[in-house]
Amino acid sequence: MSSTEGTSRSVIPANLLKGQKALVTGANSGIGKATAIGLGRAGCDVVVNYVAGREDAEQVVDKIKAMGVRAAAYEADVSQEDQVVAMTDRMVEEFGTIDILVANAGLQRDAPITEMTLAQWRKVLDVNLTGQFLCAREATKEFLRRGVVPEVSRSAGKIICMSSVHQIIPWAGHVNYASSKGGVLMMMQTLAQELAPKKIRVNALAPGAIKTPINRQAWETPEAERDLLQLIPYNRVGEPEDIAHAAVGLASDLMDYVVGATLYVDGGMTLFPGFATGG
Ligand code: NAD
Repeated sequence: MSSTEGTSRSVIPANLLKGQKALVTGANSGIGKATAIGLGRAGCDVVVNYVAGREDAEQVVDKIKAMGVRAAAYEADVSQEDQVVAMTDRMVEEFGTIDILVANAGLQRDAPITEMTLAQWRKVLDVNLTGQFLCAREATKEFLRRGVVPEVSRSAGKIICMSSVHQIIPWAGHVNYASSKGGVLMMMQTLAQELAPKKIRVNALAPGAIKTPINRQAWETPEAERDLLQLIPYNRVGEPEDIAHAAVGLASDLMDYVVGATLYVDGGMTLFPGFATGG
């Protein structure tokens, strides 16, 4: 257990999301893993989606079950329509419904534009943007079928799109990734507008630099971490649990009037830190 998992135990209210069913994609690693565990701690039954790494997914499931709620690992590639449909159908069959979707799965395939292959471009767009679209579409069908159950939540369902500060900060050498997250911003806002009248809340989290395998080279040496901290006014690199805490809050009725918002969880990275001493 990491020290921050210990922290999340103490700060997440145990019954905040009691009885809700949550689906977290890409939940066998990093932010998705911490979020799945955090939702379990808040009282959710949790489906831990993974595309590779069944053992890691099963370990997350065991951690969640140890908190006295249900959990299961479902394999699915979020960029494949048939697999997403099968995953959400199975969740409704085995867990009864879906109350919360955290569309978290994502990846990077970095290259300068002149070297970026069409396959690299397409892979990132397929997983990071189309994958969120497919999961949001299927979850929405279930939210609409079930409607609001007031004892469970004030809304018919919550979708949390995992975006990035790169939905607004351009990122040289990562045009596929930044474009996918820019797309997530407009997808999230459009779905929020479309679905709010149906009592479905769609929002996004935009992490800054969080210590996970996706960006290991940016924080794993002291030199790399020092450079990274230049971009973070709060002067610490984020932990996956920082995002998990925000996801639990955003999914809860405490945030019932938050619709179509992006919550930046970035230690101030989007505050143009270069202007603190210049400009
Ligand atoms: P990670 O690599 O630890 O986790 C990504 C997860 O997505 C893994 O479980 C991976 O297997 C899964 N995944 C990849 N392709 C998939 C597919 N086709 N189907 C299902 N699952 C798939 O990285 P992370 O940092 O935890 O990233 C999680 C999300 O957070 C991503 O959307 C990422 O863009 C976003 N994010 C991360 C950071 C950061 O600093 N770590 C910052 C901003 C945004």
